[in-house]
Amino acid sequence: MSDTKERIKCLIIGSGPAGYAAAIYAARADLKPVMYTGMEPGGQLTTTTEVDNYPGYPDGVDGTKMMEDFKKQAERFDTDVRFGLATKVDFSDKKGGLHKVTIDGSTVIEAETVIISTGATAKYLGLESEQRLKGGGVSACATCDGFFYKAQDVLVVGGGDTAAEEATFLAKLCKKVTLIVRRDVMRASKAMQHRVNNTKNLEVLYHTELEEVLGDKVVEGVRVINNQSGKKQEIAVTGVFLAIGHKPNTELFKGILEMDKTGYLITKGKSTKTVKPGVFAAGDVQDKEYRQAVTAAGTGCMAALDAERYLAALEN
Ligand code: NDP
Repeated sequence: MSDTKERIKCLIIGSGPAGYAAAIYAARADLKPVMYTGMEPGGQLTTTTEVDNYPGYPDGVDGTKMMEDFKKQAERFDTDVRFGLATKVDFSDKKGGLHKVTIDGSTVIEAETVIISTGATAKYLGLESEQRLKGGGVSACATCDGFFYKAQDVLVVGGGDTAAEEATFLAKLCKKVTLIVRRDVMRASKAMQHRVNNTKNLEVLYHTELEEVLGDKVVEGVRVINNQSGKKQEIAVTGVFLAIGHKPNTELFKGILEMDKTGYLITKGKSTKTVKPGVFAAGDVQDKEYRQAVTAAGTGCMAALDAERYLAALEN
């Protein structure tokens, strides 16, 4: 049921680098953007520590601080940043049609253009014990929760850059970190693998998968299995960190926008255009290849330019 209704030129859903870059450009083009932040304002970068590879920060920058800077810059040009979650969308098929987006189940925004920058979320394995112990020692963010496991033993699952980064980060805080990798090789970059291999209190177990997280209310250990020999072993740990990739936040758009088989939004050619006129997608929600803050910000800029051009073409 709709409590309030509002009509705007440009709605931005999501507040990571893509959303804020879109906001800065849209605001400067006088589209008076309204941004809804989602449940995690600032997005994934607020769950990381140091960002060393974003151009313009020669000494690196804390992820949360960087997102605060993005927000300040967007607000300097009068972006209206609001806390809230898009819960329903009704996109028009018609050029120039109004798109209706419901926020928190009650407020309806009618927008001439919509920029989707809802990002991606960490994946879990789906084990019953893992789900039950989420918040009781199972986490998907070492930088958020690692502090609670100071001087304890923990397990990290995954073989990509995230797993390598989280494992080395945890090794600085914890007594021992065990990293389990399902293949005989890590997917992580050579530089990250080097870092892993040079961390004394970090042990890597290859061909190993998590079978069960042990413990009733809190994590007391794990049972892992060697997927070649079938040999199982229990490891006493108090924390389990999943680092097995991400899934795009596109549930809301199922059956409405075009997606690939893993749920990433498909955009047309080199643009940010979706199949619905006036609806654009930017950042990790449409990019499973690069997934960097700087590439997300780049596509956010593109989405704002695409939105501006779309509106200008309607006027002519
Ligand atoms: P990736 O998709 O790169 O890696 C996921 C890892 O998890 C792989 O090793 C994969 O194994 C493993 N995995 C997936 N599913 C399972 C499962 N069910 N059971 C066990 N293991 C599983 O994700 P990341 O989050 O690591 O990285 C995403 C992107 O972000 C990458 O492009 C990465 O380079 C980038 N990144 C860059 C960083 C940096 O530059 N500082 C830091 C973090 C990420 P398998 O290899 O067998 O498929």
